[in-house]
Amino acid sequence: RDKSVRKPPWMKRTIPGGDRYTEIKAKLRELKLSTVCEEARCPNLGECWGGGDGHTATATIMIMGDTCTRACRFCAVKTSKTPPPLDPEEPANVAKAIAAWGLDYVVLTSVDRDELPDQGAGHVAETIRRLKSSAPNLLVEALTPDFRGEAELVREVAASGLDVFAHNVETVPELQAEVRDRRANWDQSVGVLRDAKRFVPSLITKTSLMLGLGETRPQVVNALKLLREAGVDVVTFGQYMRPTKRHLAVKEYLTPEAFEAYKKIAEDMGFLYVASGPMVRSSYRAGEYFLENVLK
Ligand code: SF4
Ligand code: SF4
Repeated sequence: RDKSVRKPPWMKRTIPGGDRYTEIKAKLRELKLSTVCEEARCPNLGECWGGGDGHTATATIMIMGDTCTRACRFCAVKTSKTPPPLDPEEPANVAKAIAAWGLDYVVLTSVDRDELPDQGAGHVAETIRRLKSSAPNLLVEALTPDFRGEAELVREVAASGLDVFAHNVETVPELQAEVRDRRANWDQSVGVLRDAKRFVPSLITKTSLMLGLGETRPQVVNALKLLREAGVDVVTFGQYMRPTKRHLAVKEYLTPEAFEAYKKIAEDMGFLYVASGPMVRSSYRAGEYFLENVLK
């Protein structure tokens, strides 16, 4: 039985279209690339891709395929122990597509590839190097797997030339086992963020929490404290939305005011930048915020 609570009015938004959108879509198809923006039918697509009017055009590209070796209970991505092999042309194709698109800021995200000897770290690092050499002004954020906490793999990605190293803790320590794949946990993820900063201190580190999974306010405050202690610079909060009925139910829809309150708490704790709102996704208008708040 569906025990999910009802969607409040502020969670409803439509997906826009337009010429630029159609043009970008065609280019992506030609180079066999997929974006999280489209796959997840992200409600922010119009704003993110649009750019112009002082906005920074941002998109999130998915690399390393559409099949993950993990099965987190909030995520709709397909799962397999043996996903298809990596596409060796992908790093070059991503660089080509992004240079042609003229984006200001790109977020690379990927599935987890636990079956590969280096869990895909080399592929991610190569994609970043290619992007930076074909579009030197482009800001690159990578949302990385946890690499099962292997410091050498974290180092390889951290040292590849990216600007923002992001890895999501997803939820408070208390709900990790319930929400994430059994190979993931709080300490390992915080360790990844701490290591990235330790290896390359100039990197901006970033993480994201979904709210509405049953976490309490003291648990969120404690999580923020632990993240600050690990040197994490940026945190984002968004509403958890259940992708299908087979996934974890939404326990609560937080009000826009509750998101604002968490934003204030996190800012007071010294995070460089906090994005918090019902529709906020880890990459929501990431570029714009970075240009205005962090990298200036
Ligand atoms: Fe989804 Fe990432 Fe979990 Fe894979 S590791 S199931 S892509 S959230
Ligand atoms: Fe794409 Fe992220 Fe923007 Fe959504 S928030 S449109 S996934 S860049």
